[in-house]
Amino acid sequence: MESVKKAKVEVVIVGAGPAGITMALRLEKLGHKVILLEKQQFPRPQLGEALSPGIWNIFEYLEILHVLKKEHYLKNTIAEVIWENQEIFERKPNLKQENIIVNREELDADLLEEVRKRNIKVFQPINHLKWEQKTTNWFISFNSNNEKFEIETKFIVDARGRGSFSQKEQIKLGTAHLCLWQDVKNSIFCNRMKIEAVENGWIWGAPLTNNNYRMMLFLESEELNKSKAISIFKREINQSKLFSKFEKLIKDYSLNSCVIQSYIHENPWQQNFVKIGDAAFTLDPLSSSGVEKAMRFSMQTAICIHTVLKEYKEEKAKEFYEKQIIETNKRHSDWLQTFYNSAWCSNASLFWKNKKKNILDINSEKDISDFEKCFYKELKRETSEEKLEVIEFVPKHQIELLWNLEFELNPTINIQDILCIEDDLIKVKKGVLIQNEEKVFLHHLEIVKLLEESKHQKTIGEFIYKISTEIRFEFAVRIVFTLLKWKLLFISKESLIRNQKQLSSF
Ligand SMILES: Cc1cc2nc3c(=O)[nH]c(=O)nc-3n(C[C@H](O)[C@H](O)[C@H](O)COP(=O)(O)OP(=O)(O)OC[C@H]3O[C@@H](n4cnc5c(N)ncnc54)[C@H](O)[C@@H]3O)c2cc1C
Repeated sequence: MESVKKAKVEVVIVGAGPAGITMALRLEKLGHKVILLEKQQFPRPQLGEALSPGIWNIFEYLEILHVLKKEHYLKNTIAEVIWENQEIFERKPNLKQENIIVNREELDADLLEEVRKRNIKVFQPINHLKWEQKTTNWFISFNSNNEKFEIETKFIVDARGRGSFSQKEQIKLGTAHLCLWQDVKNSIFCNRMKIEAVENGWIWGAPLTNNNYRMMLFLESEELNKSKAISIFKREINQSKLFSKFEKLIKDYSLNSCVIQSYIHENPWQQNFVKIGDAAFTLDPLSSSGVEKAMRFSMQTAICIHTVLKEYKEEKAKEFYEKQIIETNKRHSDWLQTFYNSAWCSNASLFWKNKKKNILDINSEKDISDFEKCFYKELKRETSEEKLEVIEFVPKHQIELLWNLEFELNPTINIQDILCIEDDLIKVKKGVLIQNEEKVFLHHLEIVKLLEESKHQKTIGEFIYKISTEIRFEFAVRIVFTLLKWKLLFISKESLIRNQKQLSSF
């Protein structure tokens, strides 16, 4: 009889894309024994070369910054944009937060190497994967390099990426569309990213690290009923303002295609089983932030799993996780809707008609889960135009101006129990609800405790001074000014009247 190798670990992660890798690195750091399973041999092709600037601090946090610092990765690429009108707009990179174009095959292989360096066991390639839950633990079987394995685990993380579950399980966001793309030899040495809204959709292009130039056309699938894909691709590139010079480089063969549908899994957390990255939700590629969102969400989910393993509080962890999915998708949907609606194109073509209509025209006739209900409710919520920003700098004259003024606590503050992360665990803490946003901490200090403390202080200066016994003075200043900005505190009327003369001199 063929022998089966057996092992027992706390967590098995399935899929070694950015989401699965982030999970493996975080859980290992939090002290858990994990195993990572990957179906394919690396390097393997993958979409998503253009990484959004937020990626840098994620890599720094995971202590793998060096992986992004390769010389041939293209940083701070200028973008030419035609979107709100038909003029070319040059978008300069933000020097504080660089955008970056990587080679995904290489990046994913390097990331997996980092996992191996930390002595996390990786099985690759694997096939015949099966899992079964007996009472609470999972039993996973698979083959790898002609050997059979059976692993017992407390928790499974599904990071198998886009298309890892059936359409029936998807909560669809907006309508599907088609993506056609080709990499051409960059013989015209274009080193700029380009994005252009055209009558029938939009085109994105970027130089790649292998001296090719990638062009992606996003359009309605119905276009394929009228013409062949390659003819449509050539036509749209030829008629565009930014890409027409690439038309002669297009080859008649090797055109790639895929269907783009943004969705969320209808039930992404089941007992001791959780989905992350594209296996949990996928975003429209317009934002080029799939990799960043997959990694960021994976870091938050790692904290949820840590909470379950350490404190057996699955309900709290699940609630926090679902909230993060809903919030991430709400923010992204709001952004997407505004961005698509700002394009110069009229609703004449089906693509723009679909993209400009409300993403929430969701058909939800079937029985829906509580998670789905919360999701729809949140998506429908109007978001306030004004963002709750933390004050990062206060000029000296403003501190002097308010220093001796007396303040009061806003009597209508809405204090609630809020789930938050503290010491790598999900906890319930008292926080405030302001413009529908939940806030617990300000510069690592609990807002409710700060407000309690403020009751013992009379003037702005006294309050700043009191907080500065715990943290640096400049942070104490920022905290008090932020509390004023968020209207949790306000300057008392009497104090304003008494100091009118002094205030008007500024
Ligand atoms: C057209 C298009 C353009 C895009 N452009 C961008 C962009 O410019 N920037 C950006 O940030 N994002 C972009 N994305 C999104 C990006 O590709 C994904 O968001 C990102 O790769 C998600 O990472 P992940 O780890 O969740 O999944 P993946 O990267 O898909 O990784 C999943 C892994 O799981 C493995 N796997 C699958 N099944 C199994 C199994 N049964 N057993 C074991 N392993 C398995 C796969 O082999 C794979 O390695 C784009 C997507 C599309 C479709």
